[in-house]
Amino acid sequence: MDHIRRVVVGFGANLGDRHQNIADALEALRADPDIHVTEQSPVYETEPEGGPEQGMYLNGAVLLLTAIEAADLLLRLQGIEAALGRTRDVKNGPRTIDLDILWIEGESIQTESLTVPHPRLGVRAFMLRPLLDVAEDARDSASGLVFSELPLAKVKLSRS
Ligand code: ADP
Ligand code: MG
Repeated sequence: MDHIRRVVVGFGANLGDRHQNIADALEALRADPDIHVTEQSPVYETEPEGGPEQGMYLNGAVLLLTAIEAADLLLRLQGIEAALGRTRDVKNGPRTIDLDILWIEGESIQTESLTVPHPRLGVRAFMLRPLLDVAEDARDSASGLVFSELPLAKVKLSRS
């Protein structure tokens, strides 16, 4: 751990008290001494994409400053999800809280458990819009793609 860089974590919830689940997850992130949460996007209400028939989502993202390795960060996010009662029964199914690593400044990762930038950034406005809200200049370090230039960046989302 030596290199502090910007990281964007996306959150989503469509089960239980969605606002409370998000508040609890962000509080847990803020309680981590290795993570500094510096900005938060608006919370948007979005349609579920794929999976079974399910309720509307609340989605957003936070900007972190941290030196934690990506794999370690993923484990910490999964720990927060588990503590908030997240289960994984159905692919793309309803969830109390989903925490995904959307982007890590200067990094491009493809392992079995982790792909960064998030592979659905270019096709899911509910990930791209909040990312740009907190890291307007974000780019894919491997391809040089500037995310704000994606067509999807123009899509408007409804705030919750
Ligand atoms: P979803 O794809 O809907 O977010 P899950 O939260 O259940 O579904 O995550 C499934 C798997 O996705 C995790 O076990 C994790 O290893 C993997 N994964 C790959 N890339 C990422 C990423 N950038 N952020 C979070 N999880 C990721
Ligand atoms: Mg996830």
